[in-house]
Amino acid sequence: MPDTNTRENERGLRTPIVAVLGHVDHGKTSLLDKIRGSTVIEGEAGAITQHIGATAIPLDVVSKVAGSLIDPSDFDLPGLLFIDTPGHHSFTTLRSRGGALADIAILVVDVNDGFQPQTLEAINILKQSQTPFVVAANKIDTIPGWKPNEDAPVQQTKEAQSDRVQSALDEQLYEIIGELSDEGFSADMYWRVQDFRGNIGVVPVSAETGEGVPDLLTVLMGLAQRYMKEDMAIDVTGPGAGTVLEVKEEKGFGTTLDVVLYDGTIREDETIVVGGLDDPIVTDVRAILKPRPLAEIRTEDRFEKVDEIAAASGVKIAAPDLDDAMAGAPVRVVRDRDIEEVITEVRAELSEIEVETQEQG
Ligand code: GDP
Repeated sequence: MPDTNTRENERGLRTPIVAVLGHVDHGKTSLLDKIRGSTVIEGEAGAITQHIGATAIPLDVVSKVAGSLIDPSDFDLPGLLFIDTPGHHSFTTLRSRGGALADIAILVVDVNDGFQPQTLEAINILKQSQTPFVVAANKIDTIPGWKPNEDAPVQQTKEAQSDRVQSALDEQLYEIIGELSDEGFSADMYWRVQDFRGNIGVVPVSAETGEGVPDLLTVLMGLAQRYMKEDMAIDVTGPGAGTVLEVKEEKGFGTTLDVVLYDGTIREDETIVVGGLDDPIVTDVRAILKPRPLAEIRTEDRFEKVDEIAAASGVKIAAPDLDDAMAGAPVRVVRDRDIEEVITEVRAELSEIEVETQEQG
């Protein structure tokens, strides 16, 4: 997506935002690393773009990783934007208007360990927020006797295993499918799922060997394309809306906001309203920053300034008076709207978040 775009009222499809949840040690971080790693290798130089707090994987890279599993002409969504911080704490604090910031989630379950307390917590959060998800049944390479085929589609590598290994895997997968069913979800191996709205697809993967990663990307892309296209249709050039990932002190910029922008565009010098500790903060954007490509990083110079950026993306915003801004709070560009209305909107959203935080104890 171009960073500079001055056309007005341009409808476009934004990238769906993906979050990773699951029990500790089940492989959330490893899986994210693997997805980033395999796409770096498969993609053209610079094809995956590092955002602030997120990683964008464009459709052509997804399609290279997925190989014969995907026909890119079936898709018009631009790719997938993965939030870099896994775990349900970040998932619950990161909200957008009336819902979860993430459009889709990956629930990572260790294939040997099955459902654990945080798996159940994650399931409940996904239920409450009605976030569609797929289950990544991770660590298939640890099934005794498994012979890895790096980065292979899962059915291919599964069929290459001995009968004994295949049944051992199936047994664990059916256990997970049973546990999903106990939680009220109809689930099956993803290749048997026809309707991903009513059924949860289980994708066997290994974050270690990359087996099943092509399938996981294919399923996410397919799910988004099929069922979320309408939600992804936005006014790309409209006033930006986002959520604060983190409030950070940054040398040379003072207090900055790491923001995931899920709607519209944000431009330098625009007035924004940000949720704060006491009351919404009204301030003007001094700089919009992106990470510099790795190859160009010099110590003092990690960020690159851009004039504007469109959703969906992760950016750093430098502006005065951000000390009281809060992680999880909404950010709104005012543009040609009545500033009082925008403040009221932000205040309403903040109180909603606070009520929920209290309810969760
Ligand atoms: P997180 O707490 O869910 O983020 O889990 P991590 O990604 O930190 O993984 C926990 C441990 O499991 C680490 O030692 C990983 O190397 C290991 N691990 C994660 N995924 C796999 C996998 O697919 N196969 C194997 N063999 N080990 C894995």
